[in-house]
Amino acid sequence: MTFSCGVSERMVEELYLNINPLQTAGKTHAETRKAIFSWIDGYAVCDACKGSLRTMDKPPIRAFLADVSAFLGMEDAMLTNGAREAKFAVIHSLTEPGDWIVADGNAHYSTLVAAERNRVDVVRTATAGAPTYEVTPEHFAEALDTAEDARGTPPALAIVTHVDGSYGNVVDAAGIAKVCHDRGVPVLLNTAYSTGRMPVSGKELGVDFIACSAHKSWATGGGNAGILALSGAYRDRVLRYSVDNPVKPLETLGCSTRGSAVVALIAAFPYVRERVSHWDREVAHAQMIVKMLEDAGGFFILGTRPKRHDLIAMETPAYDEIAKTHKKRGYFLAKDLKACGIVGIKPGRTKQFKFSSFGLTDDQARYLAETFIDIKDRYDTR
Ligand SMILES: *Cc1c(COP(=O)(O)O)cnc(C)c1O
Repeated sequence: MTFSCGVSERMVEELYLNINPLQTAGKTHAETRKAIFSWIDGYAVCDACKGSLRTMDKPPIRAFLADVSAFLGMEDAMLTNGAREAKFAVIHSLTEPGDWIVADGNAHYSTLVAAERNRVDVVRTATAGAPTYEVTPEHFAEALDTAEDARGTPPALAIVTHVDGSYGNVVDAAGIAKVCHDRGVPVLLNTAYSTGRMPVSGKELGVDFIACSAHKSWATGGGNAGILALSGAYRDRVLRYSVDNPVKPLETLGCSTRGSAVVALIAAFPYVRERVSHWDREVAHAQMIVKMLEDAGGFFILGTRPKRHDLIAMETPAYDEIAKTHKKRGYFLAKDLKACGIVGIKPGRTKQFKFSSFGLTDDQARYLAETFIDIKDRYDTR
């Protein structure tokens, strides 16, 4: 169906297995969709507001922030417009223009633009390069020591990508945090691809801040939502209030994400809390898919081993060969997958691409791997 404005109805989650890594863990449940629908009107969330979004009891935002801080093993939390606004708020609070921060070599662009908008330089660590692209505590130690020698001052912050969006590598966050803390550098863990999918405790990892992306990994729709969880030691510096409007947190300009997105986040939370306890099943699916593809031949998995996350990146020379002579060129792959009920890879890509197995059943995970293999075999004319 197409609405009169020309926008058509989106039926991706209803009709297909969606393997787009951006979307698999942001898919909403029926109850969340109902909650979004009923809170969709402008400023609906402000019905019972007494001036401060973070202390509202209807909807229960105050209670949610307390619960989510505990869930993440941290001491306080604020709502943000996604992981990027959480990172921006921390950089803005801890740095002066001209300062520098350190980030891993697999950092997301939003880390870099958050720093740029704060006029702060980013020194990026090396990675192990192809095919693992691993980032280790040693990479951080080397970048910190070399850059500090050259610049004469330590960095104001380290931003560590817990799981990167290119290879799905899970870093040794505790090891990296220790290297940073040994040098007096506070640590923000960017968990856009981890919290909400897998168990994460800031206390156990020893990090000072956790940035979360609710629309990516917390089954939250209805707009943008994120969380910045923090340790008590930084509460006063980051969660500080306006002088003239003392109930308004300054870093989020008073309110940040609101409306149906925050209601969706609260509605999804019981479900998210439950699902992270099944993370072992998600990892088992990813490992099974990798094994089936590698056994079949022609698929080369990128990233660290063993696979410990649902985001799988691979090089597929076999598909690239097919694309050379296929009349649809590189588009054959997305088209053939769609004919098998699977969407979510970048159309046109055959050399290297990524997908996510998050949320699939055992049968769906097997079907996905079998379909990748079938498509390769059906053009095999040797
Ligand atoms: C998706 C992603 C982000 C951006 O998250 P938003 O919530 O949209 O700001 C940041 N970092 C990484 C590693 C990501 O994958």
